Amino acid sequence: MSTSLPHGFTLDPVPAFKDNYIWCLAAQDGAAVAVDPGEAEPLVAHLRARGLRLAAILITHHHADHIGGLPRLLEEVGDLPIHGPVDERIGSITHPVQGGQRVHLPALGLEFEVIEVPGHTRTHIAFHGHGLLFCGDTLFAGGCGRMFEGTAGQMHESLQRLARLPAETRVCCAHEYTLSNLRFAAAVDPANPSLLQWQAAAGRLRDEGKVTVPTTVALERATNPFLRCTEPALVDSASARVGRRLTDPVDVFAALREWKNVF
Ligand code: ZN
Ligand code: FE
Repeated sequence: MSTSLPHGFTLDPVPAFKDNYIWCLAAQDGAAVAVDPGEAEPLVAHLRARGLRLAAILITHHHADHIGGLPRLLEEVGDLPIHGPVDERIGSITHPVQGGQRVHLPALGLEFEVIEVPGHTRTHIAFHGHGLLFCGDTLFAGGCGRMFEGTAGQMHESLQRLARLPAETRVCCAHEYTLSNLRFAAAVDPANPSLLQWQAAAGRLRDEGKVTVPTTVALERATNPFLRCTEPALVDSASARVGRRLTDPVDVFAALREWKNVF
């Protein structure tokens, strides 16, 4: 599997709802794949404006803001291969996939590996290939998803799996949560110069009406508190929060995640 995108590909986060992104990756000839179409209209408008034809859909998890657009989309563009998790809560998956399998997108000449990342939901998956990571609501810029169906241990392990991907991997997450995530990050990791620099840069991007994604695995490793549960600064912050000395990174992760829920 090549580590970068072939020449001529475009990658766009199509805004949906209040803060979702539907990622649309397109080859030079107009064949496109979309990830997590929570609603159809913005994606259809994007495809029309760019003269793209949708060739496949990837789904990371069953939440409505990631799959809700499927019925309308299929009406609009006809039946398509839909690759997603094995989960009875997603009716329209044509190609169910599990961790370690590969997704072939012949129309685009691309192939992605499937990574199981339980925690936000129990069947959440991510797609990795060509220097890209589509990670839904698992890893966000500066943060991570809430644990609706998993334990802290599962979510922590899922995030570590993503953190071990090559540093230059572009992290294509499904929400624009960056500024609020970085506000929390700066509170728990206040002496991290990379984090403070990125927080200022992300603030400027949002002021200019621009998106803050994709980020990179390297940037997340350097700034995302949920990937940094063995760093002394974060161990100290989490320990102070719970009032006892934490030594297990999973406990640090759990304390940070609970803190973020009420921050
Ligand atoms: Zn979700
Ligand atoms: Fe979501």
